[in-house]
Amino acid sequence: MDDGAIVSRKFDVIVVGAGPAGSSAAYLLAREGYTVALVDKSLFPRDKLCGGGLSGRSKKVYEDIYGDSWDEVIEYRSQGVAFYHKHEYLNRLDDYKATHFVYRCDFDYYLARKAEQAGAEFIQGFDINDIDAQQSSMTDRAGNTLQADYLVGADGIKSIVARKVLSRQFDRDRFAIAMEAEIDKQVFARKVDVPEIYYGVVNWGYGWVFPKKEQLTVGIAGLYRHNRDIKKAFADFLHHDLGYAGQVKMKGYYLPFGSYSKQPGKGNILLVGDAAGLVDPITGEGIAFAMQSGQFAARAITEARHSNKPASAYRIYRKKLTTITRTIDHANYVKHLIYPEFSERILLKGLATSTDKYSIKYYMDLLADEISYPQFVGRLFRKSGKRIFRLLVN
Ligand SMILES: Cc1cc2nc3c(=O)[nH]c(=O)nc-3n(C[C@H](O)[C@H](O)[C@H](O)COP(=O)(O)OP(=O)(O)OC[C@H]3O[C@@H](n4cnc5c(N)ncnc54)[C@H](O)[C@@H]3O)c2cc1C
Repeated sequence: MDDGAIVSRKFDVIVVGAGPAGSSAAYLLAREGYTVALVDKSLFPRDKLCGGGLSGRSKKVYEDIYGDSWDEVIEYRSQGVAFYHKHEYLNRLDDYKATHFVYRCDFDYYLARKAEQAGAEFIQGFDINDIDAQQSSMTDRAGNTLQADYLVGADGIKSIVARKVLSRQFDRDRFAIAMEAEIDKQVFARKVDVPEIYYGVVNWGYGWVFPKKEQLTVGIAGLYRHNRDIKKAFADFLHHDLGYAGQVKMKGYYLPFGSYSKQPGKGNILLVGDAAGLVDPITGEGIAFAMQSGQFAARAITEARHSNKPASAYRIYRKKLTTITRTIDHANYVKHLIYPEFSERILLKGLATSTDKYSIKYYMDLLADEISYPQFVGRLFRKSGKRIFRLLVN
């Protein structure tokens, strides 16, 4: 907020956090004609540690919310994917479903500006000190106060809204830990033109090399409780599996990995995106669910208002959210087929090396939200049942 006089403002909705979840909610609510404050502690463009991979699911959700093309903010587009087990190349698919890649500082700023253009007031550098759940108001360290009929907590995995309103403590044992670095394509030993996925490089997780125009985003993520020394795992991944000996600037952060909140809000306060723990534990994808939960929150508030039952927003939101939590529940079951060491070694390797490449196609169909996890597993077993049986028996 501006230096100087202390201010006190009132809005219909305050959205805390201008990541993909918050900006999507703010955009839709502003378009409905509500007065909306989109509040972030950072000054934009700000960075967010992320691979910046946007699946077919993300594209669908984006188009459903914004109804236009995201081309201007896309950094790289690929229609393939390659799979590895540690340093061993397994298989590759070209000319199939598209994946898009962005830098989050550009993508998030682009979405926040869209919310602003729709009429939301984008308040940057607002460092929240306290939240009063009864009043749905918040105060920053300077004493400025914002108050609203509804609060949307879109402030990421360490959400202050979840902490203050639901007394939820940040518990890293529930989450995954990730490390990432950017490497110039020029100094990397070989050409990378499709995203590369690496199994066996981290426990209960995976590694990636995502191509951008000039750089590669290289990272690993796995459940924290199974990866206490993630820095070493990342160094091993870089040196042994990727054969990269140059210097990198490593950065680490947490992400939810299947452990979503059973109570994503309270009263007129709704939690969306990482603040509600909405990340797929197999693909590590969170951007699509962030935007979609923002959309659900906006719709829930709008429907509650239109039906003259403003207090029903949380109930409506929870119901809508089951579309996402059902997918995460399924992924939480399927991860037990994928991540234990023996499956990674035998099943994944066996399936990924199959010459017909069906398993990889199914994986891409899953990422594009064209098939569900139960369909994914069903198709794998139908197509490769005998092969899976042989792999397990041998
Ligand atoms: C290393 C890594 C790689 C990943 N790669 C991918 C990927 O390739 N594809 C994918 O789909 N997902 C990926 N994810 C997950 C994805 O980044 C998140 O799921 C996504 O960013 C969630 O969006 P969000 O809007 O909920 O929260 P965020 O993007 O975290 O945004 C939260 C916002 O809230 C603001 N904020 C925080 N605290 C406060 C406060 N007290 N007051 C005001 N504002 C506050 C922050 O400044 C931030 O702008 C990755 C995550 C990690 C850690």
